[in-house]
Amino acid sequence: MGGRQYIEAMRSALRSLWSQRPGLCPVCGLWCPGWTCGACLQRFAPPTARCLRCACRWGAGICPDCRQHPPALSACHAALDYSYPWDGLIARWKFHGELGLNSAWHGLLRDLPLALDDIEAILPIPLSTGRLAERGYNQAWELAKGLLHGDHRHKGLPQALVRLAEVPDQHRLSAAERRVNLRGVFGVHPETAARVHNARLLLVDDVMTTGATLSEAATTLLNAGARSVSAVVLARTPPA
Ligand SMILES: [Zn+2]
Ligand SMILES: [Zn+2]
Repeated sequence: MGGRQYIEAMRSALRSLWSQRPGLCPVCGLWCPGWTCGACLQRFAPPTARCLRCACRWGAGICPDCRQHPPALSACHAALDYSYPWDGLIARWKFHGELGLNSAWHGLLRDLPLALDDIEAILPIPLSTGRLAERGYNQAWELAKGLLHGDHRHKGLPQALVRLAEVPDQHRLSAAERRVNLRGVFGVHPETAARVHNARLLLVDDVMTTGATLSEAATTLLNAGARSVSAVVLARTPPA
């Protein structure tokens, strides 16, 4: 390991230790009784009305886009907007291994009206094998673990949805191009096909931009016989 890499690794370890200390808000760094302080939540994550099907900002009910083109997802929830300060925290968590933030994210996800009693299995959006080996963890599964408590603790199906191909970077693609880019990228693992068939499933992902990834995953699961597929994401990209 070179000197610069070593310093970066130490920095990341220290940041991780810091963010694992219970009682410190990850946004302002001040003591708080929960995992994120009320003042920061009120300032940066005020209650936001979202479309029930795609979680875009929308007054109430279903947005005009979803009414015109009903999405594969039966419902979609988002805890946050993908904007300051959450975008920076999510990048540290996702790319620099600051898994101490899991607790804050779990708290936010558990506050959403996910109706988990009606859900039979919870599935993370998978990473490709290469990306998983590089990062060491699938951030979507780290999020999903926060929902596996009480009566729901056996509902996790981390291996059911598999990524069959690596997708080139989607950042510069339009929504329509992303859909084409993702076609056929997911499959259902044969060993878990029986748990997917006729089941009500919840997909979990970290950030939703156009929704193309979740839509393709939901379509794959519906084609494999799922009864319904809903989704929850930590953060939704707000309109430009
Ligand atoms: Zn705070
Ligand atoms: Zn919508």
